[in-house]
Amino acid sequence: SPPADAKHFTLLHTNDMHARATANGGDMGFAKLAGIFDAYRSENPNTLVLDAGDAVHGTTFATLMNGSSVAEVMNLMGYDAMTPGNHEFNYGTERLLELADSMKFPVLSANVKNKDTDELLFDPYIIKEIDGVKIGIFGLTTPETAYKTHPKNVENVVFTDPADEAQEIVDELEDQTDVIIALGHIGMDESSVDTSLSILEEVDGIDIFVDGHSHTVLEEGQETDNGTLIVSTGEYTQHVGVVDFWMKDGEIVAREAKLLNAEDAAEIEADQAVDAKVTEFLEEQKVILAEEVGETAVHLEGAREKVRAGETNLGNLIADSLLFVTGADVALTNGGGIRDSIGEGVITKGEVITVLPFGNQVVTLKVKGADIKAALENGVSDYPNAKGAFPHVGGMSFKIDPAAKAGERVHSILVGGKPLKADAEYTLATNDFVAAGGDEYIMFGKYPQAGMFGSLDEALIAYIDELGAANPKVEGRITEAALP
Ligand code: ATP
Ligand code: ZN
Repeated sequence: SPPADAKHFTLLHTNDMHARATANGGDMGFAKLAGIFDAYRSENPNTLVLDAGDAVHGTTFATLMNGSSVAEVMNLMGYDAMTPGNHEFNYGTERLLELADSMKFPVLSANVKNKDTDELLFDPYIIKEIDGVKIGIFGLTTPETAYKTHPKNVENVVFTDPADEAQEIVDELEDQTDVIIALGHIGMDESSVDTSLSILEEVDGIDIFVDGHSHTVLEEGQETDNGTLIVSTGEYTQHVGVVDFWMKDGEIVAREAKLLNAEDAAEIEADQAVDAKVTEFLEEQKVILAEEVGETAVHLEGAREKVRAGETNLGNLIADSLLFVTGADVALTNGGGIRDSIGEGVITKGEVITVLPFGNQVVTLKVKGADIKAALENGVSDYPNAKGAFPHVGGMSFKIDPAAKAGERVHSILVGGKPLKADAEYTLATNDFVAAGGDEYIMFGKYPQAGMFGSLDEALIAYIDELGAANPKVEGRITEAALP
């Protein structure tokens, strides 16, 4: 236990909230989170509240207002700092800078730079003096943002090496601060090039690394060999992270981490001002979202682990809607762009934009058959594991040999029932994200757009309207089979 004369600090943290504004299932919603912050602050004035990114995008609560609803609510919640995650860039960099301006707390990142001028887009760090203790807080953003958001959102931005930048900041802060906190939207996924763990293998001197991006749940944090405590709350508004630490003579003498969920916080009251603000925005949005735009005879499958790993009826429906509005030969759309399922029965506008929240445009490209093959290989390179790039297709079918190595596992590609010809030209309909080379569809990035056909959500609505009611099936467009 800490010495009696040590000073007690509380760090509260969130990550990957993805605009889960209201209480729902395990999600506590913003008002409850704010209530928890209030409760801790009233108990210990030495309390800091940090967010590790992916806050302002993910539900219609956010997208209908291009993120400003979340920014306003976070102001009321009393955050002290956040770092931008990849999803913060989904409305474009200009919009992110506007949102950051509207936030009453600093948005920090040490590795996001203007491509032309090499200048940082955000302040890299702040030093906060609390109760005589100097706390340095710096931000890091996953370099995966370069391909995880629409390329046009980050066309003037480069993401530099987070470990290099972290080292520089730590060197700079070491003599000026008592505590160094990294606020990273970096993650611990083994599939990522940079992880919080890999950064901490290179960089000493960070006391606490508040992480996000991989949605990792660390119930009591995780200690690294060089003495950093990594903390991460999982996802949405399911947990608030709590790190208590005690300072004596400029050193942390004790620390402990835990997570609070809805059950742990059952006795804590929601913050009324935040609740009122969230309710006000929801009321404004209700009218738009409730509009009935169609009907479906079946459940439309859009669950993340399904649409990123195999054919689903919703993937087929969206791909067919691309063919419907464009008249193209083939359609391909990325599973990662499909963000939810739709239940059987009436379909509302709200459900459609929840499924397709990116404001994607429908475009056509005139592409060589060989590039269609290359695109399919890219989409299934992780198969049977989930990948945002997973291709849902219309007007064509193909087989995957999961035993074959990535890049050589797609075969038996049929377009309109005939084998794909490598040197023939096909009109391909897709979304503007994929067309621009997003999700590593770089083979498409080189083609000029042949046609533009309005937004993807409108295409889906128009197609369902044409059908009368949607009734798509999984029909063997994408199947497993050994290479012939
Ligand atoms: P999480 O969103 O759960 O935090 P993450 O931050 O790694 O995880 P993902 O959910 O994997 O991000 O989202 C990235 C994926 O979203 C991309 O791989 C891509 O498939 C899809 N995506 C991102 N932006 C767009 C866009 N503008 N249009 C279509 N799809 C997009
Ligand atoms: Zn996230």
